[in-house]
Amino acid sequence: MKPKRFWNERTRMMLTLELAVALPAAALIIASIWHLRNIQRENAVEALLQRDFAHVLAISEKHMNQRAYELVDDVRTQLPAPGDTCSEIMDRILSSHPYAAYLFVYSPTSGLTFRSQPGRVSDPDFAKEGTNFSKMADGWFKMEFDDVVKELTYRNRSGPYMFDANWTMRHGQHMYQSYALFLLSDPSTGQKAIGGMVFDADFLHDRFFPEQLDANTSNGPNESSDSANRPVMMLHARHDWTPIATSEGWDNGEPEVERNLEGAFPDLTLAIKMRGTTFAATANRFMRTNFIILGGLSLLLIGGLVLTYRSVSKEMALAKLKSDFVSNVSHELRTPLSLIRLYAETLEMGRMVSPDKYQEYYQIIRKESERLTALINNILDFSRIEAGRKEYDFRETDISELVRNTLESYRYQIEQQGFAFQENIEPVPPMRVDREAIARSLVNLVNNALKYSQDRKFIGVNLYRNNGSVKLEVVDHGIGIPSQEQDKIFEKFYRVGDPLVHNTKGSGLGLSLVRHIVKAHGGDVSVDSTPGEGSTFTITLPVGVDQQASKATSA
Ligand code: ADP
Repeated sequence: MKPKRFWNERTRMMLTLELAVALPAAALIIASIWHLRNIQRENAVEALLQRDFAHVLAISEKHMNQRAYELVDDVRTQLPAPGDTCSEIMDRILSSHPYAAYLFVYSPTSGLTFRSQPGRVSDPDFAKEGTNFSKMADGWFKMEFDDVVKELTYRNRSGPYMFDANWTMRHGQHMYQSYALFLLSDPSTGQKAIGGMVFDADFLHDRFFPEQLDANTSNGPNESSDSANRPVMMLHARHDWTPIATSEGWDNGEPEVERNLEGAFPDLTLAIKMRGTTFAATANRFMRTNFIILGGLSLLLIGGLVLTYRSVSKEMALAKLKSDFVSNVSHELRTPLSLIRLYAETLEMGRMVSPDKYQEYYQIIRKESERLTALINNILDFSRIEAGRKEYDFRETDISELVRNTLESYRYQIEQQGFAFQENIEPVPPMRVDREAIARSLVNLVNNALKYSQDRKFIGVNLYRNNGSVKLEVVDHGIGIPSQEQDKIFEKFYRVGDPLVHNTKGSGLGLSLVRHIVKAHGGDVSVDSTPGEGSTFTITLPVGVDQQASKATSA
């Protein structure tokens, strides 16, 4: 019945453990895996990066526009009213603003005044570009002056400029330039005119665009200390992938997100990517790292569960051992007590005639009380050890004599139980030991040999010196101990689960006491046993430096 109850308790405990810890932990792990899988399936990391980068592009466009407006503003505000427009003022403005290639003013009354950057007119490409542009502007404004003014007036609410793109030929290649149109009016006459500034293509390509791209990539919200993950940008024509300008570190990879520019630089597209990597690779790395972390955490969790399981099992086993111990000890106390009572009562009645009988009963009473004393001593010693209060009284001792005397008081009992008793006690050097503790260890071992022998009744006790230590052996030809139990028998309360042991009285304390005592002397106790053949318990005590020295002084 008992083991079943134990199993029930154990099962309940394990179920609670699993429900309380393992289930939530497993649920957490599964939910995390499911969540990560969802992120993976929906390409959520890529989408997030895309949104982030789209945001960076929008901000970059805003910065570029702002800067372009500032540059054009600087020129526009210096232009005189349409009636006073003269080429000299325009030339002066141009030479102090080298980023402007051409400036022009058109009014229906005075026509087109078109001025080129004075320092650049000797460049044939530049001169040709100017001629083409002024022809185009002249024709256009003559025909559509009113429409353009209307458009500019309408636009004026959101900003004073209308930008447009112009592709021009410079140094043998097509180059981009944008120009701004704005409204001018004479405050005295109310006459309206159209003003304009054309950005210099070289300035845009060589300075403005690279500077803007660099500024936007290094100040962007995505900047990280790891420059490999920095975003890089590139500008290209809307229908041509060839880069017009790139930020530092552009690695010619495919752009991840693009934005068609609309403000100051129409017809251009701003593109962005991560330096040296792609969104897909970054997302993969993110997923991999997360799965690895999750795997590690799961392993830790499983490890923790296994540890908890083991320690709970151990605690429960100990609890079981303790409850067995209480019933074993009660049983062991009751038997000698009832014997003592029985024989004392018989003696009290005084009915026996033979003096031998009296003698025998006295002996039984003495023996049983000795057993009681031994058991109670064991329990007391054990409780002192558990409380950490056990003290030893080390004294210079002749071990051979101690062993001989201890055995002497047992000889009669041993032989009376039909045991062949063999002692082989060699002289050994005197040692500092606690006499009572060592004697108790020996008594425990001899008692076990008596208890755990069946038909082959033999007890041998050997004492000899061996390589700097003294060995005390107790040999029996009893039931022996299975090898897997041989370590455990030295643990407190532990008794081998054999029916033969179960039927023998015991508390499971003796060997744990022996081990404690021997360790306190700096030695060790070991067992060599074969089931069915017998056991040899060996106490090894070192003949320490102390002992050698004390021997020398006493000599
Ligand atoms: P107890 O003898 O009171 O049960 P011990 O601590 O002295 O407690 O021994 C622990 C267990 O070791 C015993 O229950 C028994 O199973 C086993 N044991 C000890 N000595 C012997 C021996 N000489 N032969 C066989 N088994 C032994």
